[in-house]
Formats: sequence, C-alpha cells, structure tokens
Amino acid sequence: MGEFDLIRRYFTRPTPHAVLGVGDDCALLQPRPGMQLAISSDMLVEGRHFLSTVDPAALGHKALAVNLSDLAACGAQPLAFTLALALPSADAAWLEPFSQGLLALADAHSCELVGGDTTRGPLNICITVFGEVPPGQALLRSGARVGDDLYVSGTLGDARMALEVFRGTLSLPEAAFSQARQRLERPTPRVALGLALRGVASAAADISDGLLGDLGHILQASGVGAVVDADVATNLIATRADISCASGIFGLEKQREYALAGGDDYELVFTAPASARQAVQAAAAQAQTPVTRIGLIEARAAQGPAIRLVDADGQRLDLDLPGFDHFG
Ligand code: ADP
Ligand code: MG
Repeated sequence: MGEFDLIRRYFTRPTPHAVLGVGDDCALLQPRPGMQLAISSDMLVEGRHFLSTVDPAALGHKALAVNLSDLAACGAQPLAFTLALALPSADAAWLEPFSQGLLALADAHSCELVGGDTTRGPLNICITVFGEVPPGQALLRSGARVGDDLYVSGTLGDARMALEVFRGTLSLPEAAFSQARQRLERPTPRVALGLALRGVASAAADISDGLLGDLGHILQASGVGAVVDADVATNLIATRADISCASGIFGLEKQREYALAGGDDYELVFTAPASARQAVQAAAAQAQTPVTRIGLIEARAAQGPAIRLVDADGQRLDLDLPGFDHFG
C-alpha cells in the first residue's frame, strides 16, 4: 500500500461543511461570518504519551480527544482537523482500527478530517483542530477574579491509576481497573460543557497535566491565588469506593496525589463568580456533565505557593505535588 493509497483508504472522507477536504495542496474552511477561529495542536509520541501495546482504536480516539479537549476549554465549537502521521510501516491491521477510533469520535462531534501529512518514521501523531467561537466569548485562562468559585468537571485521578497499573507500581481490583483504563485510553472531551459555559465561566483550562498544574496556569494568567479542598477533589476519583473496599492497596496520601496531580484527566477546571452558581448548574445539566465546586479564588499571597490546599476540616495540607512537566 503506497502513501496515497493509504490516505485515500483510511483518511479521505466526505466533508459536508468544509469547502475542500483531503486531496489538494490546502483544505479550505469557511467559518461563519463574524466568527473567530480557535486553533490548537497536540502531539502524541510513542513511549512518551502512549505505550506501543495500546489498542489502535483507543489511540485514534485519544489523539483527537486531547485536541477536542483544548477546544472545549476555550468554549469553541469543533469544525475540522488535520492529521500529521509518522508511521513505521503501512500496516492495515493497525490503520483500520486507528482510523475507525479516530473518525468515530470526529463524527460524534461533527469535526471533519480535512487534511494532513503522512510519512514513514517512528510512530507519532500530531493533530491540529479548528473550532469557532463568537468574538469575545472564548473562555481564557486569564479571567479568574478574587472571590470566584472554583470548579472541576467529571472525575479525577483514575487515568493516572490505570497508568500506574501498566507501569507495575499499582494493582487494582478488576472492575476498578477496567473503569480506570477507559479513562486513560478513551477520555471524554467536555465539548458540550465548554460551549454551555460561554458567558458563565470567568476562566477555564483543560486538565491534561493534573488539576493543580493546570489550575496553576489559570492562577498565573489571572494574577490570583486559590484555596482547594483536597478532600472534595479526592472524592472525585470514580473508582474510589472499589479502592477503599480493597483496603491496603494504597492510602489517602496516594489517592490525593492521583486526584490532584495525576494527569490525563481531560476534564475542565474553571472559575465563575458566586452570582453564577445557578447558571453553572444549568450549564452542567445542559451538557449532562457533572461539575463540582472544589474551592475559591483568593488574592495571591506575596510569598509562597499560589494554591493553598486544605482538608475537609479546613486544615492546611502541605503536599508536594508538582504538575507533570515534560522537561522537569
Ligand atoms: P503535499 O505534498 O502537498 O503536502 P501530500 O502529498 O502530503 O500533500 O498529501 C496529499 C493530500 O492528502 C493533501 O490534501 C493532504 O492534506 C492529505 N493528507 C496527507 N496525509 C493525510 C492524513 N494522514 N490524513 C488526512 N489527510 C492527509
Ligand atoms: Mg506532504
């Protein structure tokens, strides 16, 4: 199978919305009049972001999901994406499920594959997504204000727990592992929530590198600090009941670490004024996505960390939990 065969067979699809899709030197998009384009790229590298043994269909899903998650964080409606792919070989047994996993998620969000690049090399997947948002309505990291509530969507920590099982540092009960593995391999981009939060949230980011790390980006961009209830956040581990039943697997300290700094959650962390509590709940209901209030935005202390962690009793916690830094 040659390069162009491969592109035709696996990556050429009808594009009812794009003016021109795969096949020419450029794709052509026509954003609706007056709309702004939201653009984001994410690269997945074998060994760094996924293991060689991962199911190709799950990998296709995840490669697009992590990009859609960035659009969600901005409150943008997905339109189209490009796919730059380095492959060790043209292997139909890999390409077939990979493209199916990828394009099923694309179809679910009406996000059209309009172009890309294909080359031989170590497995590497780079997607660029394009979305649209009305001018001035994109959710930014810089809009958090002192007194705002702090929220997170969905669940936290399970993806990291599955990763630790694969790394051999952790064992989980079977049911908990398969649930956690879904979160690691098939994350759900919170696109509907991002759209519903336009005009409601004051700032937002998606959680790829752990709650505290990505919250830190909001605090930095907004020039504020935050207090986070670590126990409320830790309760958002979806498999927590299973873990706690199978006592002795790991304790509260580890659970806190996975929830607060686990990574690969692809949830949204966002802020909104206290006056918008009902509107936040309405957005969550509309998007059918649970959201939980986990803290409060406060003035940034002159010294010390931007995030204060407290437990359920309001007692200060000193945990050393840096966000995941690829060059750290
Ligand atoms: P060029 O040489 O002009 O960059 P290519 O020969 O690399 O174009 O690609 C031919 C067409 O196939 C282009 O329209 C390009 O966007 C598309 N394409 C290449 N690889 C992919 C891919 N992995 N997924 C989708 N479209 C692709
Ligand atoms: Mg090319």
